[in-house]
Amino acid sequence: MKRVIFKILKQQPLSKDTIKIVLEGDTSGITASGQFVNIKIDGLYLRRPISVCDYDEKTLTLIYKIVGEGT
Ligand SMILES: Cc1cc2nc3c(=O)[nH]c(=O)nc-3n(C[C@H](O)[C@H](O)[C@H](O)COP(=O)(O)OP(=O)(O)OC[C@H]3O[C@@H](n4cnc5c(N)ncnc54)[C@H](O)[C@@H]3O)c2cc1C
Repeated sequence: MKRVIFKILKQQPLSKDTIKIVLEGDTSGITASGQFVNIKIDGLYLRRPISVCDYDEKTLTLIYKIVGEGT
């Protein structure tokens, strides 16, 4: 498992409760769409898995639904 700090480049609402987020950082640990990243959120003990929507050498795109505390 590779630990990486990403910078948020863009957050774009796709609907009332669904957000597309584009992150910038080292994506070398990602090898295929369909993998998930396990996101550490300040103040929450458990990481939240979110599936990889798209990625390239420098950016990672995720789509998440606002459900609870983490999202
Ligand atoms: C392998 C994997 C991949 C995932 N990929 C994605 C993804 O690409 N996009 C995405 O949005 N989420 C994805 N999830 C779900 C994600 O990890 C979180 O569980 C979800 O976003 C809720 O996190 P939260 O902290 O906002 O809610 P929490 O604070 O954990 O939950 C708050 C409340 O919401 C309820 N709840 C949690 N999830 C749901 C739900 N889906 N529907 C209805 N009620 C719910 C809980 O039971 C709880 O009562 C994935 C999960 C797994 C295991």
